[in-house]
Amino acid sequence: MNTILRKQFLAHVGQTSPSPMLVEVARAEGSFFYTPEGKRYYDLVAGVSVSNVGHCNPAVVKAVQEQAARYMHVMVYGELVETPQVEYAAKVASLLSGGLSSLYFVNSGAEAVEGALKLAKRYTGRTELVSMRRAYHGSTHGSMSMMGAPEGEEWKGAFRPLLPDVQAIEFNDFGELERITRRTACVLAEPVQGEAGVRPPVPGYLEALRRRCDEVGALLVFDEIQTGMGRTGALFAMLKYGVTPDIVCLAKAFGGGMPLGAFASRPEIMQTLQENPVLGHITTFGGHPVCCAAGLAALNYLLDNKVVEGVEAKGTLYAQLLGNHPAVREIRRSGLLLAVELGEPQKLYRIMELFKQAGILSDWFLFCDTAFRISPPLTISEEEIRGSAALILKCLDELG
Ligand code: PLP
Repeated sequence: MNTILRKQFLAHVGQTSPSPMLVEVARAEGSFFYTPEGKRYYDLVAGVSVSNVGHCNPAVVKAVQEQAARYMHVMVYGELVETPQVEYAAKVASLLSGGLSSLYFVNSGAEAVEGALKLAKRYTGRTELVSMRRAYHGSTHGSMSMMGAPEGEEWKGAFRPLLPDVQAIEFNDFGELERITRRTACVLAEPVQGEAGVRPPVPGYLEALRRRCDEVGALLVFDEIQTGMGRTGALFAMLKYGVTPDIVCLAKAFGGGMPLGAFASRPEIMQTLQENPVLGHITTFGGHPVCCAAGLAALNYLLDNKVVEGVEAKGTLYAQLLGNHPAVREIRRSGLLLAVELGEPQKLYRIMELFKQAGILSDWFLFCDTAFRISPPLTISEEEIRGSAALILKCLDELG
């Protein structure tokens, strides 16, 4: 990499860790990105489940270009009628179950979570918020408050005080559901836990969670920021598992590669944000028309090309190709969200180095430092799955 660029990156771009990957991206297409020297990387992260329709998908690029030429930002969200927002909201509403027909657009996942928590407090008049251990919902103060302790403590501890009246229960533990009570405004859960290292729900758990929330009048909020838009093999994980929340949070792939988030609910819940006070939740850029045009184009691409229908078979193929390697302890999976368990952090550090040399972009999980992630664009072809799996197997061999 050009040394001036490297120096400027380290000096002027705020860093998230002392050891960035330092690989320069020149362009990206489909399942790959390329460095200026022409080195090709399989992108098995997809921006952490963002690029579901592949990099530079022509349908999305076209929609972005056309909307950018028509108008970009005109007025803060919620005042003017902007066609890309309306069309996208109507389309998503038609695909969500349970009458979640009103969408509130924001810019990111954390912001969708913030909005959902405020909405739950506003609607129920209660204050207690319940989250799940090893959950990640974003890095703002509110969303970080919902990062499930004790594993989240390393992050949360440094930023206290956070939101009061928050408690975490164990995901998949039926016995802990009793801790959801008439004091609880909402329970926030990922239907498949992502950063915990891909933990799908055990049979009956989401149903039991739904029942408990109904018993005590708490709202159930699903964070589908990582699982939405086809990742688990259904358009939304709530459809895959047949459990409808009261509020669902969307982001990541929801913007088709552009920054966009939303929380969706039933109209009688959503309308409580309109008054007492008015403007109780506002955003300048939420529902940006270019982002909405991109999101709609990406969603239409998924639907028109039946991409989601192929996800389960693609995930199964990865699991078959990698699952028998002696270094692999276990593969946890929902659709094309896979955690390949190596059992030891040292092995994970080493394989990340080997992947970098081999032209594989993978990542670990915030609350699981023993497994690597496979979450490629959902459009990845069988040939690309076999090609990337062959490279991964070579790296696993070298791991010894
Ligand atoms: N929720 C989940 C499940 C996530 O995986 C993430 C990001 O990784 C977020 C929320 C936060 O989204 P954002 O980074 O857009 O704020």
